[in-house]
Amino acid sequence: MSLGRALRHWLFPDLCLACGERLSPSEGRICLCCLATCPRVDPECRGLVGSWTSRELNRVTALWSYDEERVRRIVHGLKYQGFSRLARELGPVLARQVQGWLQETDVLVPVPLHPRRERARGFNQSELLARAVGDALGLAVWSGLVRVRYTRSQTGLGPRERTENVRGAFQLRDRVPEGRLWLVDDVLTTGATMLACAQVLRRAGAEWVGAIALAAVQGNMGESVRVFAAPLP
Ligand SMILES: [Zn+2]
Repeated sequence: MSLGRALRHWLFPDLCLACGERLSPSEGRICLCCLATCPRVDPECRGLVGSWTSRELNRVTALWSYDEERVRRIVHGLKYQGFSRLARELGPVLARQVQGWLQETDVLVPVPLHPRRERARGFNQSELLARAVGDALGLAVWSGLVRVRYTRSQTGLGPRERTENVRGAFQLRDRVPEGRLWLVDDVLTTGATMLACAQVLRRAGAEWVGAIALAAVQGNMGESVRVFAAPLP
């Protein structure tokens, strides 16, 4: 590191996006301590998946618990603060979580934003994540799933409203690729969005669909999601 850069870092240290502690020059936007200690959820999300009557998804996995403030700050940074470089930092971390389950012919499918929302934000955080995981594992990313209906944000909606909100929101603009498909999204809340996407892929002939999320709402792993257990149309 140059003397000038070292001095600048000493005077104006970068702070970890998650915990707010000073970052060392070799760290990215998140300190190594947070990367190692942010709380994990059950990697198979059994509590959540067990409550679904739908069998659209063959496997669901998430990394961190969205119930923890540090994780919410990371997701917020990825989604709203334009820290698109953050995805490149998170990709390898998420890749390590899922690599044991992935095969080299698997294809990653980002959960799409509506074009209007993507234009406003400048990027789709799920696509950035999918590309970063794809780069880390040498997997293809397919962006043929599109959001055709502008839906209100899922934030603040209950499980049933979430399912209603995304009904008919997704379509395909291309033939589904060969191989197993993995949907990629930033947060798994009730699973309504992932299930709606999986249903579209299944109807188009996909035989195997999984889902990967950076974080999952741990509170939803228990009884609270039973209300969501109505089959999708
Ligand atoms: Zn930290």
